[in-house]
Amino acid sequence: MIVGIDLGTTNSLVGVFDGGFVSLIADEAGQRLTPSVVHFPVEGVPLVGRPAQRLRVLSPERTVFSSKRFMGRRVGEEAAQMPYQLVGNKGAPVMFGLGDNRVAPENVAAEILRKLKQDAERALGESVTKAVVTVPAYFNDAQRGATKLAGELAGLDVVRILNEPTAAALAYGMDRRPESTRIAVYDFGGGTFDVSILELQGGVFQVLSTNGNTRLGGDDIDSALVDYVETQLGLSVSTPTARARLLEALVAAKHSLSEAEEVSVSLPFLDGLDSPEVLLSRTVLEIVARPWVEKTRGHCLRALSDAHLKVEDIAEVILVGGSTRMPLVRQFVAEVFQREPDCSRNPDEAVAEGAALQGAILDGKLQNVVLLDVTPLSLGIETFGGLMNVILPRNSTIPCKAGEMFTNALPGQRSMLVRVLQGERELADANWELGRFEIPFTPLPKGQARVGVQFEIDANGILKVLARDTTTGKEQVVDMRSAVDVSDEAVEKMLEDALEHAFDDMNQRAFTEAKLKAQEMLPSVAKALGLAGDSLDADERERIERGVRDVQDALRGEGAELLKRSVAELDDATQRLAAVLMERAMRR
Ligand code: AMP
Repeated sequence: MIVGIDLGTTNSLVGVFDGGFVSLIADEAGQRLTPSVVHFPVEGVPLVGRPAQRLRVLSPERTVFSSKRFMGRRVGEEAAQMPYQLVGNKGAPVMFGLGDNRVAPENVAAEILRKLKQDAERALGESVTKAVVTVPAYFNDAQRGATKLAGELAGLDVVRILNEPTAAALAYGMDRRPESTRIAVYDFGGGTFDVSILELQGGVFQVLSTNGNTRLGGDDIDSALVDYVETQLGLSVSTPTARARLLEALVAAKHSLSEAEEVSVSLPFLDGLDSPEVLLSRTVLEIVARPWVEKTRGHCLRALSDAHLKVEDIAEVILVGGSTRMPLVRQFVAEVFQREPDCSRNPDEAVAEGAALQGAILDGKLQNVVLLDVTPLSLGIETFGGLMNVILPRNSTIPCKAGEMFTNALPGQRSMLVRVLQGERELADANWELGRFEIPFTPLPKGQARVGVQFEIDANGILKVLARDTTTGKEQVVDMRSAVDVSDEAVEKMLEDALEHAFDDMNQRAFTEAKLKAQEMLPSVAKALGLAGDSLDADERERIERGVRDVQDALRGEGAELLKRSVAELDDATQRLAAVLMERAMRR
């Protein structure tokens, strides 16, 4: 049996398709949602889920929550916000420091997966070794790789990594809608936000576009609420334990405010003898939460424009993630998409349900649905002049494969550095480097060596890069999963930056391309002028020399247009010279 697992930032769930329908599996305590929290005691085995959740207050420094935010990530900005310790230098993979132990985010995820596996085994009465595990559509290669590794550590063969919105669409029964239905999936959870536009065509689901932010969710609203209570209401807490208790109480209040208009939060002996009581209204919560909800608007609009669609083209909007229970979020989605969202499924459970359905499809128990996902960001390599050469454009349907042939820039060059990049910027350095490796090749004159580079993304979204010297047939295949080096730059900033810098980037690319052409041209023009002797008249020679000066001047500036124009002019001016030399060579 292949189980479906929603490995969430805040909560995780396991489901299975059995006897014609999906059942979500409850644990020994009868609970289906397992908080994604792991407590690492000084001695003994880690505690997972509710028992760990309870220890968040008593032992915040040994209790890890929201660890999904750190999967496949490097030490970065949100470090200061966590009550548990993050160790490692800036730029190193995140590790949690729990007493003397160092624990990686994938080890935390593995503890959660192990518990879900055991729950499933107890409920099903058989051993469970295969799972479909979901990830946010926006997860990059490193994060997907870390998720797969977590499964392996827990003794699970992860037969498919599935994007959460795709899973949700299955759960909402979108596969039974009329042909050519376009659906928006709005997933606002605890730690991540995703929006995806899917299309059902000929019984096949296709993700037309996906956008989101891996660092935006209900957790942000929770922190903002704590700040509000501390700064606006003047309630100060001095210990981490008190802060954790305050947070817990305010999260509970936030949940109640999805139903009630007002709640009173009492915090007996919060900080020493102080027992404050706070009255919170939905209006106040909405003022605090609105900026975070508002941040999702741009992602929705970008997903639409990437899919070349307008809001009117969307037939359904489905809601996923606990934070979509907030009335504010529902109103906001209705306003952005100009239609009431479908809230018919339990937003906490839809993803796990979909994962279980995908498991059944892979198992052959369910037929006629094929799911196609897309790459969230473009993938490519760096080429001459520091430019990004896209091999797999953003939003390519996966699994996919594409390649390109490259040549040596210098005569006798012995190797080429393949720098694998992910991102939307024209300049290589502005994108993220996923990895790099050298491919050696036979030394040959400039432009004669041939290196084929192929990118292949499997159904799990994991990237393999193959480089082959076509002369010797020597090749290297590098699994990017192990060669991950994602920069600190926030994922969500990539698309914004690409838009913001689009004009400058384009100009720089055009300039660099023209510069490479000019640098190739100038020495050959100088050589040709020397060879031409008196076969050129004075006017012609003068025009070429002026052309050379113009190109040299333009190279000192920054204007791509000017450089391109002067290169074209020089090209034109040397047409006859080239013909003369060619004819002479042929006669000889
Ligand atoms: P998920 O990542 O989908 O498990 O969503 C978890 C997030 O949903 C957390 O930030 C929760 O605080 C939030 N959440 C869960 N239930 C509610 C509710 N009734 N009202 C508002 N937010 C909720």
